[in-house]
Amino acid sequence: MGNIGILIDVQDGQVKETNYGVVTAAASGAGEKIALVVSDNAVDCKDALQKYGVTKVVHVTADTPVDSDPEAQGKAIAEAIKNFDITTLVGLSTAKGKDQMARAAAELDAPAILDVMALDINAKTVTKSHFSGKTYASIGLTGDVVVIGIRMNAVEAIEAGGDATAESFQASVGGAGRVTITEIKKVESKTVDLTEAKIIITGGRSLESADNFAILRECAEVVGAAVGASRAAVDSGYAPHAMQVGQTGKTVSPNLYIGCGISGALQHFAGMKTSKVIVGINIDKDAPIFSNCDYGVLGDLFEVVPALTKAFKEKLG
Ligand SMILES: Cc1cc2nc3c(=O)[nH]c(=O)nc-3n(C[C@H](O)[C@H](O)[C@H](O)COP(=O)(O)OP(=O)(O)OC[C@H]3O[C@@H](n4cnc5c(N)ncnc54)[C@H](O)[C@@H]3O)c2cc1C
Repeated sequence: MGNIGILIDVQDGQVKETNYGVVTAAASGAGEKIALVVSDNAVDCKDALQKYGVTKVVHVTADTPVDSDPEAQGKAIAEAIKNFDITTLVGLSTAKGKDQMARAAAELDAPAILDVMALDINAKTVTKSHFSGKTYASIGLTGDVVVIGIRMNAVEAIEAGGDATAESFQASVGGAGRVTITEIKKVESKTVDLTEAKIIITGGRSLESADNFAILRECAEVVGAAVGASRAAVDSGYAPHAMQVGQTGKTVSPNLYIGCGISGALQHFAGMKTSKVIVGINIDKDAPIFSNCDYGVLGDLFEVVPALTKAFKEKLG
């Protein structure tokens, strides 16, 4: 039957919280649940990962430094898959995760499917949205090894308890690859990462200026939310592209999504329709967002959002 590998997305030496949902997705599968942590420096994450059902944590390095070498990372993961008899590899569909999983799958000539919303780990079937979220496809994977990238927050993390062992594995990747990451530019933000966030507050063209996004940020800071934007807001220069949610922006699945002055165009929904609870704030009762949200607030965002912020502050202290 083989084991299940879980590719851990580590950022600045920390395990991103969204990894735990991936571990939960893997935990119901047969075989060992082996977390692969690919990094030149050992990252101490055994205690955190075993809580969610990981049975073994493997620190993967190679005979050449891997941190800035995507090709070496892909080869090292492929070697670890072979070494630990992994037949299903799951990971987060972050930019880094997608790169690593695609490279590892190519090394092994294995099928890879990324950005899935749900999966049955034993049956090797996944659910993925197509055509900007208009249709869902259930897809079965076949092969000795299959690679599955899961959308952030798509699976709720559930603690499972248990103990994990820890070991190191040095892969032989045959020298440095052809690509070197020389710099990673981070967006300066006081709020949480958009794709990681459990709560997201987005603003549309109706915000009218970059300065007005401050009312969303103020609300977001109270509830620990990330701030996003529609493409119209980005194209108008009110927000950077890194904040864009939608078909040509980020795909998000928070527990709570509050769209402020967002019309709810199909291309916007493509990036956030899997949010657990959607709230729309709009002055137009016929705005498309009201046909697709769980709660609709008919009103001016410049009045509703400050009132929400005040209410959150009172409730949360
Ligand atoms: C190929 C393609 C890809 C695209 N990709 C994306 C994408 O990734 N993300 C994305 O967002 N869009 C994308 N779009 C654009 C998308 O079709 C919409 O044009 C866009 O989402 C509209 O943004 P908006 O809702 O902010 O603006 P608008 O359509 O201008 O809507 C503004 C809304 O705000 C409401 N409003 C106005 N004033 C207030 C107020 N004071 N209080 C409350 N409500 C108010 C209005 O009633 C209206 O509903 C894409 C389009 C194409 C063709």
